[in-house]
Amino acid sequence: MSESPINTRIIAIANQKGGVGKTTTTINLATALCAIGKKTLILDIDPQGNASTGLGIDHAMRHTTTYDVLVRQVSIEKAIVHTAVPGLHIAPAEADLAGAELELANAPRRSHRLKDALQTLRKNSEYQYVLIDCPPSLNVVTVNALTAADALLVPLQCEFFALEGLSQLLRTVDLVRGNLNPQLEIQGLVLTMYDPRNNLSKQVSDDVRAHFGDKVYKTVIPRNVRVSEAPSYGKPALIYDYKCAGSKAYMRLASEVIRREDKVRAL
Ligand code: ADP
Ligand code: MG
Repeated sequence: MSESPINTRIIAIANQKGGVGKTTTTINLATALCAIGKKTLILDIDPQGNASTGLGIDHAMRHTTTYDVLVRQVSIEKAIVHTAVPGLHIAPAEADLAGAELELANAPRRSHRLKDALQTLRKNSEYQYVLIDCPPSLNVVTVNALTAADALLVPLQCEFFALEGLSQLLRTVDLVRGNLNPQLEIQGLVLTMYDPRNNLSKQVSDDVRAHFGDKVYKTVIPRNVRVSEAPSYGKPALIYDYKCAGSKAYMRLASEVIRREDKVRAL
């Protein structure tokens, strides 16, 4: 449970595989949370900066970025900018973040940089949710996210190699729990890019549910062309086309996330 009076919940969205829907889930889940009235902050900690670009944040607007927060210990408030979505803010990322791993190699509290940066924000924050869009790697930057987070949300693409690497991710979670952040929970696993016409999608979904049971959200995100088009307009799918199947699925996912978080808060 957070010490904060408004209970800011920090959720890391991670999977070291690339292209599984981390960024898409971060952007659209955050937008859906805002639509439900939950003020939300995204932390983009992937040097590719896809969450920033997908929310229409030009490079010229990225004066201060998560690189400055992690490496130079600049206050996170300085990095935060508004997005076009009411109630949704983001601390953007730039390519220089790719150097963070090396620069933090011998730094003090190298795994706690993000947690330390979020301390004041947790105490007197307007945000109900902070979603962290992680890079496709289990490097020190991802470890910072897992150390700072209350919970982890794992997107899994409905394809043959969906479970590949998951045991390594779960081992990393155990290590982080043991050494850095004993409170870290697994909020859930979400199946993304589900294609009902493809037998493999169904098979992967059944396998994942057999392995992880209730940890898998009931909501499945369908493969949907509107969802993949939206970032090129600098908009979440939920703004680009709120009626498309992908947008509706992200609204349902947000309700499930809130229900799970409310259970934790009530404990
Ligand atoms: P990650 O952040 O894990 O690398 P992304 O969210 O960037 O993954 O998604 C990878 C690619 O798949 C992107 O081109 C994205 O637009 C596309 N994509 C993600 N989710 C969907 C979906 N539900 N339907 C169609 N395309 C999707
Ligand atoms: Mg991404």
